[in-house]
Amino acid sequence: MKHFDFVIIGAGIAGLLSAYMFRNYKTLLIDKIGILEGASAAAGAFLFPKIGKRSTYTDFINSAILKSFEFYENLGIDTHKKGVLLLPRDEKDIEKFKEYEKDISLPFEKRNGGFFFKDGGFIEVDEVREKIKVPFLKEKITELKKEGEFWRVNDILAKNVILATGYENLIDIPYIKIRAVWGERIEIEGKWEGNFDIFYHKNCSVAKIKDKLRIGATHKRNCLNCKTNEKEALELIQKAKEIIKIEEFEISDIKGGFRAASVDYFPVVGEIIDVKKTLFNQPRIVKGENPKEIFYYKNLYIINAMGGRGFSNALMCATMLKKHIINSENLGKINTKRLFIKWARKEGDRYLRKEKNVKS
Ligand SMILES: Cc1cc2nc3c(=O)[nH]c(=O)nc-3n(C[C@H](O)[C@H](O)[C@H](O)COP(=O)(O)OP(=O)(O)OC[C@H]3O[C@@H](n4cnc5c(N)ncnc54)[C@H](O)[C@@H]3O)c2cc1C
Repeated sequence: MKHFDFVIIGAGIAGLLSAYMFRNYKTLLIDKIGILEGASAAAGAFLFPKIGKRSTYTDFINSAILKSFEFYENLGIDTHKKGVLLLPRDEKDIEKFKEYEKDISLPFEKRNGGFFFKDGGFIEVDEVREKIKVPFLKEKITELKKEGEFWRVNDILAKNVILATGYENLIDIPYIKIRAVWGERIEIEGKWEGNFDIFYHKNCSVAKIKDKLRIGATHKRNCLNCKTNEKEALELIQKAKEIIKIEEFEISDIKGGFRAASVDYFPVVGEIIDVKKTLFNQPRIVKGENPKEIFYYKNLYIINAMGGRGFSNALMCATMLKKHIINSENLGKINTKRLFIKWARKEGDRYLRKEKNVKS
């Protein structure tokens, strides 16, 4: 039986960058389809700042953007960093833009009623796949269980396992509710007018890539049956027409996928909590008491909920996860505990009662 220090399940951008972080260990990346094939295959993959009221969230996103440009460029991946013009969507947005201006932390200039950031670009998913090479196995994982000091992952033994399965669940973690948000992005050929030295973001992003326009993306919640379809692609064209004049077009590519999002939009990274043990030891947590101790499954981690910004968030999350595992550094707002406490206060009582019934 094969042994590894780290096995990462799920080879989207979160899993791939996690495997890259642990490349100096005996590491294996596993996916049932291939590398960057899940939501990651559908991504734009645009990198651009977030504007909004100054918060831990906007700071996290924007810091991830800056680090990502540096990271991808160091690997020789073209970031097409020509800048992005963020435009308000409607009257309400115009007011919001005025309000947000004072809180913008990255360099910008006002342009055409919006904000232009030089820190805007995009990368090609194929180029990321080509430039970041890690040991990989194509296999669907159906079994994950503790065997002595190791985790058994199908027929492989791992000292540490990192779950990076996107919107799909391999194991039931009741307090981490990952929502699947369907999206499509397209490429078109045709005739259009506009300055494409930069790219644009309004209700969607629009960039010129060689002789095509890449337009992304749609957002549809509660739509697990969603599949790529031309009707949704035409919705995107309509949104793009609010930014540039498109005279003729032919859709040359449609890609779709499910983004994984958490209830508070922050990524979810770190150890997985043993809910049963923690709640049985301290049942008063469900009444609002602060936990004195949280029990974790040893050497089992998650990196998930990258939302609509996986190509920047994943780098930040994988870097933090490595520092957490190796140097015990704090994960801050992205840790798993925040979701556990909220869930325990809301649903923990029901969970405990159900578990007690099962026991008796
Ligand atoms: C239309 C669209 C446009 C987007 N545009 C952008 C953008 O412009 N910029 C940006 O940064 N982000 C963008 N995103 C978001 C980005 O794509 C996601 O945040 C990111 O891809 C999530 O990566 P992930 O690794 O978490 O998940 P995924 O890429 O979904 O990877 C999860 C992987 O786990 C595998 N897996 C699951 N269960 C198992 C199992 N049991 N055994 C083996 N393998 C398993 C799956 O096969 C899958 O490959 C976009 C997303 C969509 C859908």
